[in-house]
Order: sequence, then C-alpha cells, then structure tokens
Amino acid sequence: MEKLAIGIDIGGTNISLGFVTSDGKVLIKESLPIKKFKTAESFVDFASEKIEKLVDELDSEYEIKGIGIGAPNGNFYNGTIEFAPNLEWNGVIPLASMFQNKTGYKSFLTNDANAATIGEMVYGNAKGLKNFIMVTLGTGVGSGFVANGELILGNDGFAGELGHTIFDPNGRQCKCGRCGCVETYASATGIVRTAKEFLNNSNESSILRDYSEDSITSKLIFEAAKQNDKLALKIFDFTANVLGFSLANAVAITSPEAIFLFGGLAHAGDLIFKPTKKYMEEYLLIIFKNKVELKASSLPENNAAILGAAALVWDN
Ligand SMILES: [Zn+2]
Repeated sequence: MEKLAIGIDIGGTNISLGFVTSDGKVLIKESLPIKKFKTAESFVDFASEKIEKLVDELDSEYEIKGIGIGAPNGNFYNGTIEFAPNLEWNGVIPLASMFQNKTGYKSFLTNDANAATIGEMVYGNAKGLKNFIMVTLGTGVGSGFVANGELILGNDGFAGELGHTIFDPNGRQCKCGRCGCVETYASATGIVRTAKEFLNNSNESSILRDYSEDSITSKLIFEAAKQNDKLALKIFDFTANVLGFSLANAVAITSPEAIFLFGGLAHAGDLIFKPTKKYMEEYLLIIFKNKVELKASSLPENNAAILGAAALVWDN
C-alpha cells in the first residue's frame, strides 16, 4: 500500500489542501478562500468532510498516514495557531487536535516557514543536509533553522524568526510593532518601500518613474532591473545588503552548510543572489567565509506550502 500524507496550508488569503506521496507527488489539490470560514470550527468541519470524501474516492492501494498543517504563528509543540495577525480566527486555536479528533488521523502543525523548511529537507535540495537555513521571501520574511539534523523549535516553538531580527533600530516601522526588522526591507513589500524611498529621495531617471507610486510592485522593480535600470539595480543592491547582513549574523549562530532562498524575491535570480552572496561574505566572520552556499529552494512554488505541510507527517 502506498502511503499518503495530507498537507494543509493556511494562508492569509487561501487555504490549500493536498494529498502527497512520500516522494513528493501531489495527487489531489484543492484551494479555497479563507474568507469562507468565519471560525476555525467551520473550517475544520468542512475540511474533514472534504478529506473523508476524497479518501473514499481514492484507490484502496493508498493509506493515509496523517495530516500536516502549515499556518502563520503555528506552534508545533501545542499544535496551535496563536494570535495570527493575518487571520480572522482570533486567539489560540488548537487546530491540530481539532483535526485529529474530527478525522482520526494523527495531525501536526507548525508555522508556514518551518513547514517549508521541512519540505526542503524531505523533498528538496536540503535532502541529507544536517545544517541549513531556509529563508522565505514573500510578503514577509520567514525562516527555518535546521541544526544537527533537526529543525530548531526553541522553548516555546516559535524559534527561527529571522525576518523579525532588527537590522536598524531606527529604521522602518514593522507590523510587529517594532522598528527596522529585516522583513521591512528584504520582503516583497520591503523592496517596494525601498523603491518609493529611492524615487522620492533622488531625481535619478528610471523606468519606474513611468508608473504611479501606488502601482509599483516587486515584479516591476525586477523587470526594470533586468533591463539594467540603474535605480532598480540600486534597489536590489540595497535589499541584498540587508539580507546579506542578516544571513551573515545567522551563520554565526548555527553554522549552516547552505542557505536556501524561497519565494517571490528569490525568483529574481542573480539580481538578488549575487549581491546578497557578496554582502554576506563581506560581513561573515573569517572562520565562516567561503563555506556557506547560497542556493535557490527546489520546492515548486505552486505546491511548496502543501509539500511542506505534508512533510511534517513524514518527519514525525
Ligand atoms: Zn518585526
């Protein structure tokens, strides 16, 4: 019998659910807007019924091993989502035990960046690596640290918040309430903030001036940089400096053999990898110089969250 894991990704906009084989094939996948579910209970009821139906439709050659859930502010120890700022579901939600009670399948939950990290370890480029860092560059900046072969969860289950380490205490206002977090610079929203600052603080010509300030996106900045737009390249350089700085600091703590970048900004390829690597090497302590590889994640973007969530089942 082939074993399957169910991966559930809870995002700010969509919830996805998929059935995944142990070698990372996504057999079934469904996505729904999270707005449909006013409460976590209504979501668990709906998803459990859906799972039951899908399992009935499966060939009898498959066996479900469990449910893995990736969620913002997910706590692996308790299987809870705790005060997630981007979700309407308030407070502390014991989602893993809710699913386990409803479906009878063993259920695990962790935060989305940690799920992606385990996904990279189980299915991706980090297979076999004992020490690595995964950095997800999306709307925010998430990260997962694997040391000595294990994901670091920390005392409370929230370890690995590289995006909320502080780059500049007098810097940009972060959603977390503090100032100058790496996330306010090295995310898709951060690079747009940088572009607006650069456009307003200079008269330098740029393709980006053809657009109204509110219509500037990270994709536009990328397109401009690809065409060798000087200002866009400066924006990338500035972003890479922040990222390289924070990666160099992170390396000093866990001594990884590789760092994987995942998500929107990572698709900028050399435009982000080259300067980030350059700055990281400049900032690294001598004992770590030229030892740490900076690579792109190999998880397919469209299924990464589900793969990561499902990987929780195999990892446990
Ligand atoms: Zn912050």
